[in-house]
Amino acid sequence: VTTAVAESRTERAAVRPLALLADAGLEVPVLGGTRVVHANLDLAASAPALATVARTVADLLPWYSSVHRGTGFPSEVVTELVEESRAVVARHVGARDGDVVVFTRNTTDALNLLASAVPGDVVVLDIEHHANLLPWRSRRLVVAKPTVEETLAALDAELAAKPAALLAVTGASNVTGELLPIARFADLAHAHGARLVVDAAQLLPHRVVDLAGSGADYLACSGHKAYAPYGAGALVGPADWLDQAPPFLAGGGAVWRVHADSVRWHPSPERHEAGTPNVLGVVAFAAALGELEAIGGDARVEHEAALTERLEGAVAAIDGVRIVHGFTDAPGRVGIVTVELERGSVGLVAAALSAEHGISVRAGRFCAHPFFDRIATRANGLRASLGLGSSSDDVDRFAAALASLVADGP
Ligand code: PLP
Repeated sequence: VTTAVAESRTERAAVRPLALLADAGLEVPVLGGTRVVHANLDLAASAPALATVARTVADLLPWYSSVHRGTGFPSEVVTELVEESRAVVARHVGARDGDVVVFTRNTTDALNLLASAVPGDVVVLDIEHHANLLPWRSRRLVVAKPTVEETLAALDAELAAKPAALLAVTGASNVTGELLPIARFADLAHAHGARLVVDAAQLLPHRVVDLAGSGADYLACSGHKAYAPYGAGALVGPADWLDQAPPFLAGGGAVWRVHADSVRWHPSPERHEAGTPNVLGVVAFAAALGELEAIGGDARVEHEAALTERLEGAVAAIDGVRIVHGFTDAPGRVGIVTVELERGSVGLVAAALSAEHGISVRAGRFCAHPFFDRIATRANGLRASLGLGSSSDDVDRFAAALASLVADGP
């Protein structure tokens, strides 16, 4: 696979060996009764599982059995697979010795878990997805500036004025696709005695993530955005806060011993994983991460950068369409381009893209209301996002359809 990717310079061919489950062969009906090949430009919401990942799930199904608690051979197998998957996640994100991987349902779940364990205030930027904004109970919101440099200075001033336990920042914006320099945020947090959590929901599918290398303390991520099925995610980071917090959910699997009037809880990760885990989900998540490693970070970036540039150029050329940006100096971007329209309704345009052209995008404020309200001039935007399996054909179809809808009105 790696060789195939490295040898191919054309983005479509580069990812064909790793067919998505919902690959270019998926046909959808459009108005008039015809069926067209679906162009999925909404991978930032959920990226269809890789076909190899789907096979992993199918292979595992016959092994259904009691995980962590059973004694039969299938139980031993699934228990080992869950623990191997934990090790794969740890390796993939560059976890340090002593970091724990707690399996969660998704990024939202992971950040809520950390929020239940933070021993103090959390400083957070207004650019965040609601999942990295709303869970922080004692949050101090800092409005980001037009540049990353000024934003770091604003955070520096906030942390200097009043200490906080945690700085929470996204690795890549789900609205603009812009990347943030994680290592600099980590240094800043540490200089003020705080820790850094990175919301890696949009980063993980597109970039090599390295907790140890960047100095970030915690990382939260979702499998379904990284070509794995829904329902599995992770929180990775030091165990100390997590071990002092009450279990996120109380129940079997999280306890050593229960007496009528007392409970002795496990340390992390078991402490926060009560109940039967999502075995298929975490094993599939690990399989997807293994595939991302096999393709290689450089090949993924190359594939997406070419398509993102094509997408940006094509939509920027459409009259009445404006690309929204958060920062003027972001150190790169993932395959997300959000636009606002000078005239008309993005909701109707998105509906027409689907109904008339078989193209999926996302319309709205992308679960980042404060950010979108600040950087946009209209109430809603239209987001096109891509990744593995996306092609120049998808991009061209989208740009042509958008241009015609904007010109004619949907
Ligand atoms: N953070 C970011 C940046 C996101 O884009 C998303 C989902 O869109 C989330 C968090 C929440 O992810 P999940 O719905 O998997 O919990």
